[in-house]
Amino acid sequence: MAQDKKKKDFKSALHLMEGVEQPSSVNEQLLKKMKQKKTAEIQPEVLFEGLAKGNRVMLGKAITLIESNLDIHRDTARIMIELCLPLSGNSVRIGVTGVPGVGKSTFIEAIGMHLIEKGHKIAVLAVDPSSARSKGSILGDKTRMEHLAAHEHAFIRPSPSAGTLGGVTRKTHETIILCEAAGYDIIFVETVGVGQSEVAVKNMVDFFLLLVLAGAGDELQGIKRGIMEMADAVIVHKADEDNLLPALTKITTYEHALHFFPTADSGWMPKVTECSSVTGHHIPEVWTIVKEYINHTKANGYFQNNRQEQEVRRLFVTLEEYLKTSFFNHPEIKAVFPSYEQKIRERKISPYEAAGELIKRLNTL
Ligand code: GDP
Repeated sequence: MAQDKKKKDFKSALHLMEGVEQPSSVNEQLLKKMKQKKTAEIQPEVLFEGLAKGNRVMLGKAITLIESNLDIHRDTARIMIELCLPLSGNSVRIGVTGVPGVGKSTFIEAIGMHLIEKGHKIAVLAVDPSSARSKGSILGDKTRMEHLAAHEHAFIRPSPSAGTLGGVTRKTHETIILCEAAGYDIIFVETVGVGQSEVAVKNMVDFFLLLVLAGAGDELQGIKRGIMEMADAVIVHKADEDNLLPALTKITTYEHALHFFPTADSGWMPKVTECSSVTGHHIPEVWTIVKEYINHTKANGYFQNNRQEQEVRRLFVTLEEYLKTSFFNHPEIKAVFPSYEQKIRERKISPYEAAGELIKRLNTL
């Protein structure tokens, strides 16, 4: 409606006489050509060549293509991913969760810089389904990872603002593939901790890390039992010198609590330790835990198995999203949809009957 009005307004400068067809103020042919040219400019092969050499600008452009919601970009994006897939998979994917303010960004910066010194290349991504509303401000604020953002061996990308969790998840996972193809061997995926996003992140990483605070109770930190159960390590954060004692007490509490959970499929007993991203205390130790986990799960076959299962799950998620989009974007469905909405309001049809009819329509198209 608003768009129609906009369109009307756009042409209204030339609209002098009612009922007389006025020329469009835009040359439609030219517009079409420009659009085609713009699409043609995006050549996945060129982007791929650049990003495979580690070119960050090309990587950024490739991710923008993946994040695009435009139909015209869908096939190009798919080619892009297919090109990157053979070069992907060789990283360690780490999920980081915890309530806002627990210090996730500061922690990723501290451990990220430590890893860069060891010769690694770090990518930091985020899953924040609310970013469409907040315009990505929560995790888009790069200044919070100042040193990492400025380093040539780090790549930071805020959450895609796709609106739905499914959309954000898919795009973040595809971004992991692109980053791996660009040579990033350690990928951090940060979550804002809004319930569902933790599960989504857990399903795309190898190692899941929960940051907690020494001072506050779990209820205050919004940590649900389910989230603790997903963690491969619980880190009591902000354990600066003057906070070390309460942190150590907290470790015992968590170790005790984790003991009551059933053993994970990985056969790994979650580790609990403390660290401070400000003083650097225990940052190398956290990395040692991750390495121990990787060695453990590679030895017992869980690492590969988990990745395979994640891929299978992704087929379902991708199909669900694909079917949903193609249904709602189908011109015939789009045309009749409002009439069904109206019929439901007027109680002329039940929503179930309407759904059945719409599906039938799609099947006969
Ligand atoms: P996030 O919302 O979880 O990403 O948290 P931030 O990384 O933005 O950190 C929130 C606040 O905690 C900031 O003011 C940080 O400076 C502070 N902070 C982060 N890590 C530490 C730490 O190890 N010790 C102390 N004392 N403060 C920290």
